[in-house]
Amino acid sequence: MVVEGKKILFVTTYLESADQYDYWGTNISGKVRFSYPRFSSYGLRFIKKNIPQIEILEYPTIEEYMDKLREDYDIIGFSFFTHEYPKIKRMIELARRSGVEEIWGGHYGVLTDGIEKMFDKTFVGYAEDEVADTLGMELERVKHPYLVDLVGLPGKLRAFPIGVLFTSRGCSLKCEFCQTPAFCPESIPVPIESIREAIAEYKKDGIVEILIPEEHFGLQKKHSEKVIDMLDENGMNWYAQTSINILDKKLDDWYDRGLSGAMLGIEGLRQEQVDSVSKNINVDKTVNLLNRLKDKNTFVIGNYMIGFVDDTEENIKECVLRLTDFSIDIIQICILTPFPKTPLWHEIKENYGIIENDWSKWDTKHLVWNHPNISQEKMDELLKWCFNKAYPRYRIFQTPIKFYRLHAHRYKAVGTRVSRLRTINKIVGDFWKANVRFEEPPSKI
Ligand code: SF4
Repeated sequence: MVVEGKKILFVTTYLESADQYDYWGTNISGKVRFSYPRFSSYGLRFIKKNIPQIEILEYPTIEEYMDKLREDYDIIGFSFFTHEYPKIKRMIELARRSGVEEIWGGHYGVLTDGIEKMFDKTFVGYAEDEVADTLGMELERVKHPYLVDLVGLPGKLRAFPIGVLFTSRGCSLKCEFCQTPAFCPESIPVPIESIREAIAEYKKDGIVEILIPEEHFGLQKKHSEKVIDMLDENGMNWYAQTSINILDKKLDDWYDRGLSGAMLGIEGLRQEQVDSVSKNINVDKTVNLLNRLKDKNTFVIGNYMIGFVDDTEENIKECVLRLTDFSIDIIQICILTPFPKTPLWHEIKENYGIIENDWSKWDTKHLVWNHPNISQEKMDELLKWCFNKAYPRYRIFQTPIKFYRLHAHRYKAVGTRVSRLRTINKIVGDFWKANVRFEEPPSKI
C-alpha cells in the first residue's frame, strides 16, 4: 500500500525533564565522571536525511510532544527500545485520542513480545528504503546524516565534539542473547559515497574524533578498509565497536591508521559463560587483547554481562575485580536479559521463567527472569557493588592521560618539550573550540 500526501511525524520516547540519556551515567554510579549526553536519535536522523518530508521529534518532554499533536499529523511513527515501551504506549494512546489516523513503529522495540496490536504498521531493520517505498519513493542510495555529539564533563563543560559514523548496520553473527540477528541479520554497508560526504562535512567543521558505534565494525572487510583509508587520509582519530576476533587480527594495522579506541563485547571472563550464549570468543584471547590495548593507550569500553545461569554472588565479584586489572575506561555491566525474539528468550522462558512483566525494567540493569542462585533484590545490590568497583574514583584520571599519550604519539610529539607543549596546545585548543563554538551539538537536519 502506498501512502501519499500524508503529514507524518517520527518521534522517540519522551524524557522526564532531568532524564537526558547519558551513556556514562547509565554505567557509572559515581558523580565524578565524564559524560556523553545524547541529544539526537541516530535512527531518526537517517530517516530525515533520506526522506526529508518526514518531520522528526527527538527526546521531547511530554508537554512538547502534546503540543506537536495539535499540528494534525495523519501518521505518527515511534522509534524505541524495549524498555521505552511503557512510555511509548502512553504516547500512542495520546496520539489515538487526538485523532491520528495511523501509528507506525520501528527500531529494536518493535521486537517486544505482544505489542503488535498497538501499531498499524511496523518496520523491522534499518528501514529508510522500506519507509520510502511505503511513501511511493525510491532512494538512489542511503545518505549519511550529520551526527555530532559532545563528550565532556558533567554540566556545561564539554571536552570535544565527536562525529558519529555508521559504515554498515546489522550483524551476521548469532549470539544467543542478542536481538540484532532478529532485527537486521546481515551487515549492510552504508554506501561509500555517503560515508565520504559525511567525513568531508566533519572535516570542514574541524571534527577529527570519529565514533563508529554500529553493531559490528569490520565484518564488511573491503568496505571497512576503504573507510579506514578515508579516515586516515583526513587525519582522523577513530573509535569503533568491533569484535575481539576482528580486532585481535587487525589491531596493529588499524592503530597505525588512526584507531584510538574500541568498544568490545567481552561479555564474560569464564570460558563456559561465553560458550553458554554462543559468543564465539576465547577468553585467553580477550585477556591478551586487553593487555595489548593498554600498551597502546587506546580508549576501551568493555561490554560485560553478569547473571549467567551458573553465576553466583561470589564468582560475579571475583570476575569483576579481575576485570578492573585491565585499563578499561568504562566497563558497561549488564544483567543477562533474555530479550524477545532471541534464542535466550525461549530457553530462559522454558527452563526458569520470566518474572518481570514491566517492560521498563528490560534495560539490562534489572533481573527480569527467575535466576536459580540470585534474587532480584540481591542482583540490584550486586550491580551497585559492581558499578562501584568497576569505576573507582581514580579512574577519571586514566582516560585523559591515555588521550594525551595517544595524541602525542599521533602528532609525533614525543621527546621534546616544544612538541609536548604543541600537543597540549592542540588538545586544549580542541577543548576550547568545543566549548565556545558548540553550546549544544551542532545540528544539520
Ligand atoms: S552481540 Fe555483537 S557479534 Fe553477537 S550477534 Fe549481536 S551484534 Fe553480532
